[in-house]
Amino acid sequence: MKIGLLCGHRIPDLLNTKEILTVETKYGSIPVEISPVGKHIVFFINRHGPNANLPPHMINYRGNIAALAASHVDYILSVGTVGSLHKQMKPGDIVIPHDFIDFTKTRPQTFFESERVHVDMTNPYCPLIREQLLIAAKKIHSLTVHDHGVYLATEGPRLETISEIKFFSQYADVVGMTGVPEVILAREKSICYASLCLVSNMAAGLQSELSTDTIKKMYTQKQPYISKILTSTITNLEKKQKCSCKTDISKAKI
Ligand SMILES: [Zn+2]
Repeated sequence: MKIGLLCGHRIPDLLNTKEILTVETKYGSIPVEISPVGKHIVFFINRHGPNANLPPHMINYRGNIAALAASHVDYILSVGTVGSLHKQMKPGDIVIPHDFIDFTKTRPQTFFESERVHVDMTNPYCPLIREQLLIAAKKIHSLTVHDHGVYLATEGPRLETISEIKFFSQYADVVGMTGVPEVILAREKSICYASLCLVSNMAAGLQSELSTDTIKKMYTQKQPYISKILTSTITNLEKKQKCSCKTDISKAKI
């Protein structure tokens, strides 16, 4: 089975890259690393581009998802760091979101620009992948794992203000910059998608100061656990079971 993996960092404990393909898409050329993991083949894309330098608002989201769709992956796993909006979700915790709120502003959100297609977002994250991520994460007893969470996506690249965080915390649990529109575009391509979020910091106003160094350090510290969770999840994913992610696009058209 083919499984797509989107992350902003390399995952050396997981990936054993055999080759790098360049997939040509309508939105540009996308390098995809091919790596066997257990009985499956992982198609890894650094969402920040080949030089890992694209800020969240400049990421080629459509190119990345189009490249995975062209590679015929069955599932997409996404990994990202987030800020926590609530004291019960602490730095170092794992959150598997079940829903999202979109506060991005400038990103193309759809593959459909010349026809009226409205995909259903009632359950944006694949329940099958979420279940496997949760089983895998809960095996690591030193980690605190949150079964549910609302992911609020901001445009970035700046971090949020204290007032924004107060507002967001009424409706969401974690805040990040890259989870949207990936989740929407995956649904438009009828690919199951779910996200593994590492809480790297408390959001603005909930900790004394916020620096990108804190975020990087937390990711480096927890990277071995993320690799373990992903390895176990990928190993345990089976060929399509029942879920409703597979969108019949003809039914989403007006
Ligand atoms: Zn699914």
